[in-house]
This record gives sequence, structure tokens and C-alpha cells, in this order.
Amino acid sequence: MSITRFYLLCEPEGNQCIADMNEAAPYSVEKIPCPIERGHARGRRNSPLDLVVPCDPALDVVFTWMSECLIQESVRLIFESEGLTGFSTLPARAKIKKTGTSIPVQELAVTGWGGMAPEATGMREVERCPGCGHLVYSRLEAPEKLIDIHNWDGSDFFIIWPLPRFRFVSERVVEVCKRHAVTGVAFSQNWPTAQREGAGYSPGRLSYYMSRDRPRLLGATLGID
Ligand SMILES: [Zn+2]
Repeated sequence: MSITRFYLLCEPEGNQCIADMNEAAPYSVEKIPCPIERGHARGRRNSPLDLVVPCDPALDVVFTWMSECLIQESVRLIFESEGLTGFSTLPARAKIKKTGTSIPVQELAVTGWGGMAPEATGMREVERCPGCGHLVYSRLEAPEKLIDIHNWDGSDFFIIWPLPRFRFVSERVVEVCKRHAVTGVAFSQNWPTAQREGAGYSPGRLSYYMSRDRPRLLGATLGID
């Protein structure tokens, strides 16, 4: 069995085509209050992304200022026909800033699972609010220990909790994107950097990043869904 290499799916360096929210159609936010601690109150987007893309033509993969990732329909078809696993798509809208032309996009949601960050990374749960489910994890000290192959479900796209915005991918994803010359995306082996200061991470809950039954399936026993 060959050793699988992993990458992070990220924006190309110096990316000039970061999509902005369409101010004419602001998204709606579900407020999550906390009966115990006011500082826990937060919002969770509960409507599709609606974006304005500054470049024309748009790239195949488009990132937003909030690090959301959108893929054009053509990319979704490539991923599906190549049999890549560990992702789903959520409805989204986007248009070209200059012309107003709409682009067929969907938000990429990573559903593959790389498990909980191993203890060796330094990340531990340090707070769990019984009132609102707010979670806090200690900081990442050893990023190189994030992937534990035994925790990985084998998906081509996967996340490791509590770092849901880091989209880990298999070598196959890199190869497929290269072969199809997919634009707007880069692959890096520079793992998230160690945090030297700060309190750590408050990623919210798994269900903020995936839809349908997946968060419950993965996270219910861990209490993070
Ligand atoms: Zn709370």
C-alpha cells in the first residue's frame, strides 16, 4: 500500500479575485443566544451565499473574504465524474461585478472526516457551555501531528475538528485539478501554523459547516454536532 500524501486546498498566492457579499441581497443570520454567558451569543448564516465576483471571467474556484469556497458547476461535474469523495455542495449564487452576468456556482462543503485533532497537537477541549453549546479548544502547538491516518475515513476531502476551515485533500484531488487545469485553487503542504499566543479556537459546531444528517452522524457521540 502506498503512503497517501495530503495537502491543504487553499487560495492561490496573491489571489486578486476574492468574492464579496452581494449587498443587495444580504444573507440572513440565525441568532444563537446564550442564557448563561452573554459573550457566547453568535450568529450562524442560514441562507445561501450570494456573491459578487470581481474578476471576469470568474475563476473555476472562488473564495470569499470569509474563506468560504465556491466551485463552478463545471468543477462539480469534474469532481463527481472523477469519483472524488468527501464533499457535498450547497446552493449559492454569484455574479460578475462588471457585467452582472450570473455564474453557476455552489458552495463546497467538506464532509469527509479526519477525526478529532490528536492530543499530541496540543488541542484539547477546554470549555463546553451547557447553555448554548459554545466550544473552546486549546491552541494548536504541533500542526504536523494533525493527521492521524487511523482517524481518517478515506475521503478525498476531509476536515479535522476543531479546524473546519482547513480543507485537507488527498493527492488525487491535486492530480484531478491539475489534469483538468482547474483555476483559482492551490494546494499547499504548509499546515496551519502553530499558535504561539491566544486562547485557542472556537469553531462553533459541526453543523455550521455541513448540512443534513452528516454532522449528527459524525459528531453526536462527540457532542460537537
Ligand atoms: Zn453559552
